[in-house]
Amino acid sequence: MKKWKLIILTGILLLTGCQSKTPVTKELFAMDTYMTMTAYGKDAEKALDQAAAEIRRLDQLWSVGQKKSEVSQINQNGSGPVSPETGELMDLSLSLYEATDGALDITIYPVMDLWGFTGKDRKVPSDEELEKTLAKVDASRIRYDGQTVTLEEGQGIDFGAVAKGYTSGRVMEVLAENGVTGALISLGGNVQCMGTKPDGSLWRVGIQKPDGGEGYLGVLTLTDKAVITSGGYERYFEENGKTYHHIIDPSTGFPADSGLTSVTIVSEEGALADGLSTACFVMGKDKAYELWKKSPDRFDMILLTEEGELYITAPLQGMFTSDMEFSVLEE
Ligand code: AMP
Ligand code: MG
Repeated sequence: MKKWKLIILTGILLLTGCQSKTPVTKELFAMDTYMTMTAYGKDAEKALDQAAAEIRRLDQLWSVGQKKSEVSQINQNGSGPVSPETGELMDLSLSLYEATDGALDITIYPVMDLWGFTGKDRKVPSDEELEKTLAKVDASRIRYDGQTVTLEEGQGIDFGAVAKGYTSGRVMEVLAENGVTGALISLGGNVQCMGTKPDGSLWRVGIQKPDGGEGYLGVLTLTDKAVITSGGYERYFEENGKTYHHIIDPSTGFPADSGLTSVTIVSEEGALADGLSTACFVMGKDKAYELWKKSPDRFDMILLTEEGELYITAPLQGMFTSDMEFSVLEE
C-alpha cells in the first residue's frame, strides 16, 4: 500500500475511533414535550435518526391531538383495529388497571377533556358534568380481543400515562440494534439509559424537585433502566387560588390528592415504569408500598410526600445519593 493511502486509512480509523468516544446528541419535540437523546457508538448518528423516526411514528399512533391517530380514530368511531404496539400498550394498561385497583385507567380521556387538559380552556368542571363524565370511566368495560378495541358510548382512551415509557423502551431497542454501546435519553424528563460511557462509567440521573427548587431530590447512578417521574407540577392550572394538576384520581374525577408530590419508578421496563409512576401518584405512599412488596424485582420507587419526607425502596440503596434525609422501604 502506498504511504499516503496508509496515512488516509489510519486517519479514517482514528476518526471512527474518536467518533464512538464522542457522544452524539439529538433533540426533538414530540408527544407534546422536549426530548433529548445522547448516544455513543460508531453509528450513533444514524441510530438516533432512526430513533427519532420511531418516536414520531409512535406519536402518530397515540396522539389524542391528531385526529388521524389510531387512538383518535378509536375514540371517534367507538371501535377500531389496533397495531401491534397499541396492542402491547393495551395489554399493559389493562393489567395495570387490575393491579392498581383502577388507579391507572386509560378510559380517563373524557374526564381529561372535561378539565380542558386535552388542549382546550382549562377549567374546574361542575359537579354535575363531572359525575356524568366520570360514569364513563372504567377500563374493565373496554372490549378488546387482541385485534380490535370496542368502547362503550361516551368512552375514550388516553395513553398519556404509559406512552412515553413505552417509547423510551422502544428507543433503547432501536439504538441497540444499531450498535449503540451507551445511551441516555430524556423524553420530557422521563429518562431511560443503557450500556455505559466509553470509559465504562454509569449514567447519573437527577430527580427533579417538584417545587422547581435548585438541585435534585437525589441522584441515581445506574444503567439499563428507565427512571420515570410523575408529579402534579408537570401540567397544571390555577383557578380561584387553587392549583389543579393533570393526574386524575379515577375514583373522584379530581386531581389526585394522595399526599405524594413526586413519584419516581425505576425499572428495566419503560412502559411499566411510566404506568406505575402515574398509578402510584394516585394511590399514595401506603398503597404504592403494598404494590411494590408484591413484585419488588420488577420495579423500585422514590416517593416524596407533601410533608417533604423522602422514601426509597431498599434495592436502590447504593445507587441513590441525596442531600436530603431519606427512609428506606424494606421488603
Ligand atoms: P404521567 O405524566 O406519566 O404521570 O401521565 C399523566 C397523563 O396520563 C395525563 O396527562 C393524562 O393524559 C393521563 N392520566 C391522568 N390521570 C390518569 C389515570 N388515573 N390513569 C391513566 N391515565 C391518566
Ligand atoms: Mg406515567
